[in-house]
Amino acid sequence: RAAENGNGGGVCMEMPEIRYTKLFINGAFVDAVSGKTFETRDPRTGDVIASIAEGDKEDVGLAVKAAREAFDHGKWPRMPGSERGRIMMKYADLVEQHAEELTLLESLDAGKPCMATRAVDIGTSVRSLRYFAGAADKIHGETLKMSRQFQGHTLREPMGVAGLIIPWNFPAIMFFAKVAPALAAGCTMVVKPAEQTPLSALYFAHLAEQAGVPDGVINVVTGFGPTAGAAIASHMDVDMVSFTGSTAVGRLIMEASARSNLKPVSLELGGKSPLIIFDDADVDIAVELAISANFFNKGEACIAASRVYLQEGIYDRFVKKLAQRMESWVVGDPFDPRVNQGPQVDKAQYERVLNYIDHGKREGATVLTGGKPCGQRGYYIEPTVFTDVKDDMIIAKEEIFGPVMCLMKFTTVEEAIARANNTRYGLAAGVVTKNIDVANRMTRSIRAGVVWVNCYFAMDSDCPFGGRKMSGFGKDDGMHALDKFLAVKAVVTPVYDSPW
Ligand code: NAD
Repeated sequence: RAAENGNGGGVCMEMPEIRYTKLFINGAFVDAVSGKTFETRDPRTGDVIASIAEGDKEDVGLAVKAAREAFDHGKWPRMPGSERGRIMMKYADLVEQHAEELTLLESLDAGKPCMATRAVDIGTSVRSLRYFAGAADKIHGETLKMSRQFQGHTLREPMGVAGLIIPWNFPAIMFFAKVAPALAAGCTMVVKPAEQTPLSALYFAHLAEQAGVPDGVINVVTGFGPTAGAAIASHMDVDMVSFTGSTAVGRLIMEASARSNLKPVSLELGGKSPLIIFDDADVDIAVELAISANFFNKGEACIAASRVYLQEGIYDRFVKKLAQRMESWVVGDPFDPRVNQGPQVDKAQYERVLNYIDHGKREGATVLTGGKPCGQRGYYIEPTVFTDVKDDMIIAKEEIFGPVMCLMKFTTVEEAIARANNTRYGLAAGVVTKNIDVANRMTRSIRAGVVWVNCYFAMDSDCPFGGRKMSGFGKDDGMHALDKFLAVKAVVTPVYDSPW
């Protein structure tokens, strides 16, 4: 069902004011050295929202210099963890206090239904800050007995200047998934938001300053990947990079590290995750899980379960229910609270997804629902379900990053395991069954960073998140997320006349 797309019909909230459009370097909003700007656009219409400073290599150089200074000589890494935690708690409170405005800003920039943005994107951001604020004074090393003549201990020291490069699909969540553990660890940082969605990161930079994060600790350089992003990845004075984005760019980040200072990198990349539904599943629950796993955030989710494997006994019932359920799914203006699905983030993504849908049709898959764009303007696409999908079709192999679900049939547990693992990716997976033995076998057999049983998209700040294979390595969230921002140093002293 299409609501009044892109024409303002049913809109219930006022548009946010755009206050922050410049680079944030050393505690101040500044123009790019070149004076250049780029436009961020409203995905509902394609109209310009604001002109944003376009940072490049020189601006990255200034931001890294500020971060270096703040790390080498500033207070932040030297502060007791409890004090860093106190400031981070204040930062979280400020994000919470500005939740309404941030919700509107994020929904506008990324085309997200505002009801979900408030709860998921801004809510998760606040929780992330609070979780890592609590971790800031719990970063411990070990004591090592070694031999009789020596004893040792380990220090976990902040890595230094972190380069944080983030994508557009969850701009707020990604910002704090990286900034929060980096702050807790005592690092300073240069953040590069995606060019499609720079607004919330700049607002967060302002709130950091209000919270008392010292100048130079968080720097935000808006701009494009091949210029600003690449300058971070290849900078000789950036000590590590945490990147979330496509597998192709992840590879470039590793190459840039190898060619520059061999900085460690952590990569959260793409996925083609399987959702495996067994005959004994409750069909209503299975349908709801498949819908949210594919159409939440208009399918712009690295963990989207775009390969849905159905055991043959449930296949027909599932397909019937899914088709019925999709009749009440509403695509439209994300500011309308009735809407389930907003527009794709920009024209490039819109065209990319439509191209995949065409591929599916040409390769012989059957369109059960959707299959075309909708609305008069903007980047809206109907939620599309393909049946009769074969594992070797392009739509079953490549990450689509849009509202496209592929349904496939299987017979045995062994077959489900083999087909679920038959991918270059290894980010996430879902299993729907009432049989604990089947669930246990599946969770141990699927090569992925997370396996959800009878749920999907269940994430929180304390649950480690990150993939395997070509979905990358390193974790965001959970205490593991701190590891990439900490260097382990062993300190050894001699022991004389030890009794044991
Ligand atoms: P992208 O890789 O094109 O861009 C991500 C970020 O990298 C942006 O900030 C971009 O400007 C920057 N970038 C682009 N080229 C660069 C370069 N040469 N050097 C340095 N930085 C560069 O990805 P995208 O299109 O923005 O996001 C979609 C992809 O991100 C999907 O593949 C999706 O699966 C993945 N993703 C993964 C996760 C995860 O946690 N695994 C989460 C969200 C998105």
